[in-house]
Amino acid sequence: MLRYETIPVTAFQQNCSIVWCDETRKAAVVDPGGDLDLLLDAVRRLGVTLEQIWLTHAHIDHAGGTAELAKKLGLPIIGPHPADQFWIDGLPEQGRRFGLPHADPFTPTRWLHDGDTVSVGHCTLQVRHCPGHTPGHVVFHSSEIHRAFVGDVLFAGSIGRTDFPQGNHGDLIRSITERLWPMGDDTVFIPGHGPESTFGRERKTNPFVGGT
Ligand SMILES: [Zn+2]
Ligand SMILES: [Zn+2]
Repeated sequence: MLRYETIPVTAFQQNCSIVWCDETRKAAVVDPGGDLDLLLDAVRRLGVTLEQIWLTHAHIDHAGGTAELAKKLGLPIIGPHPADQFWIDGLPEQGRRFGLPHADPFTPTRWLHDGDTVSVGHCTLQVRHCPGHTPGHVVFHSSEIHRAFVGDVLFAGSIGRTDFPQGNHGDLIRSITERLWPMGDDTVFIPGHGPESTFGRERKTNPFVGGT
């Protein structure tokens, strides 16, 4: 069965998750934005073997630690969707703009597309392309444990910003209503920032997508 632990990283308190298969204790890290010491301490404490990096999108608070971690441990970089290439190329500039530590660009080992799957140990998650916040944003869905790692697409009580280059509000709303909602009202989502919620609760109460 898939298990996970979420660790907020960087000044933006981005929800980086370590996910692992409890039979093999093989693990992947979702969105290692920074604070690699904190993440590697957690990996040791959990007694898991980190084998992959999975990325929802290439904003620096999500992807800033990727190049360094991949190099340090020899890990493959899985995701995001190729439409986020320009955000990956712009990581050094993002660091300067937001006052975060320098982040090197990188080349993903494998780009992700809608309908792909990713696997860790015996666990497989479905990939959905959810553009809007960034054009190459993807989310990871475990139908096995009814969890979705949604990055900055949806938050408890809010939705992702769309005022960045190539952001698109209409795309974001469609990503949420056509690609997240079908995962089911009882699905718990882990957003990029802040507390977890369920799709059912957001469909009722979220001021941006309530009643959809
Ligand atoms: Zn973002
Ligand atoms: Zn973020």
